[in-house]
Amino acid sequence: ARISISNEKCIRCKVCIAACAYNMIAFSNQELGINDGCTFCGSCISACKYGAITITGEEGRRQTENVARYSGVLVFGEYTDGKFSGAVQEILGEARKIADKLGVQVSAAVLGNRMTDPAGELIAGGADKVYLVDHPLLEKFNDDVYTDVITQIVNTYMPEIFIIASTIHGSSLAARVASRLGTGLTADCTGLEVDMERRLLRQTRPTFGGNLMATIICPGARPQMCTVKPRVMQKLPPDYSRAGEIIIPRVDIKESSRLRIIERIVSGGMDYNLEEAEIIVSVGRGLQNPNNLNMIREFANVLGASIGASRALVDMGWLEYSHQVGQTGKTVRPRIYFACGISGAIQHLAGMLSSEFIVAINKDPDAPIFKAANVGIVGDLTSIIPTLTTELKRLLK
Ligand code: FAD
Repeated sequence: ARISISNEKCIRCKVCIAACAYNMIAFSNQELGINDGCTFCGSCISACKYGAITITGEEGRRQTENVARYSGVLVFGEYTDGKFSGAVQEILGEARKIADKLGVQVSAAVLGNRMTDPAGELIAGGADKVYLVDHPLLEKFNDDVYTDVITQIVNTYMPEIFIIASTIHGSSLAARVASRLGTGLTADCTGLEVDMERRLLRQTRPTFGGNLMATIICPGARPQMCTVKPRVMQKLPPDYSRAGEIIIPRVDIKESSRLRIIERIVSGGMDYNLEEAEIIVSVGRGLQNPNNLNMIREFANVLGASIGASRALVDMGWLEYSHQVGQTGKTVRPRIYFACGISGAIQHLAGMLSSEFIVAINKDPDAPIFKAANVGIVGDLTSIIPTLTTELKRLLK
């Protein structure tokens, strides 16, 4: 393959230099040149609005032809214990918006065993087609078996975009499928847009510890794959009058030779579904002592709230990871979010800023959390929380 720059078409804007992740484009004597280490990823071609860069030879032709054969938006309809994960309708809603812009169809792939009419919900949520695979080996999520089946579906139906929710299963599946297909994957996206000019998915996600937002494109391979954090995208109101097609794909389903699911244990105790909670009481390092969790539990009980945590608290082992809110935890959108003894680091804010109403309790009046809060209480949480609990109990009597 050969990559070349037309000096007639090139206006020396140097956008391609910035687009090259490998620093392989150099500018000297008023001319651009491409160095030997070029990987033919095609980023510079997509970045150039003047059509000045082309790949010639077999590789270039194959890449261009290959990309053009893919069409439509696919979502993974994660289905466990007879129901969809809450995020499926959210990614369906997002897929619908993207597909409408591109003028293509939305499809959803759902895998399971003895499922009861899963297609209806997916079609009402925005899917035009549902690829349904019902088989005893798909009863429990098995990373290997699911990867095999989903890879076959993608290879058969060739979507240009594939969206998966970044749940525990979704994240594992997405990485494996992307690797099998030899395509790119942007994990934990918080925003998706379409560049209509280049027909590319612009995938935005936090990077460098949440201090920067990166927008990532995948110009040279298909499908363009991403995972999306639950509770970030908006689901559409279900429309049960929508019509859709149910397709039973012909796939080869084999047991995994290296991974067998022996037992699935749902973690008990306080493992509420945080993403669905209407009220959340979150605690951070300001709790000072794990015994103080009892007062938090009592407060949450009175409110009918779920309990969240900062990473500091989870890292200390005081609460399980399933409670962590933030960039590397869950994204939540409750009606009321109580941040108790949480400083308000950007990585924590990333997971809870969309809450409708934020109450912060912190003994430091300069804590950054107060900038995000609708109501701030400055003081020691170990005296404020019991007072609030007593007062609420009295009011709710
Ligand atoms: P601290 O920052 O130590 O704050 C404790 C707060 O408690 C202070 O503001 C203090 O004034 C207050 N306080 C102390 N005693 C009391 C008291 N008696 N009463 C009231 N207030 C009191 N963090 C997350 O939360 N979620 C994430 O998903 C996450 N992901 C991360 C990803 C990366 C890549 C990195 C680098 C970091 C991540 N972090 C995450 C960590 C984050 O940067 C912070 O370190 C963390 O959020 C701090 O937790 P905290 O607020 O509980 O603790």
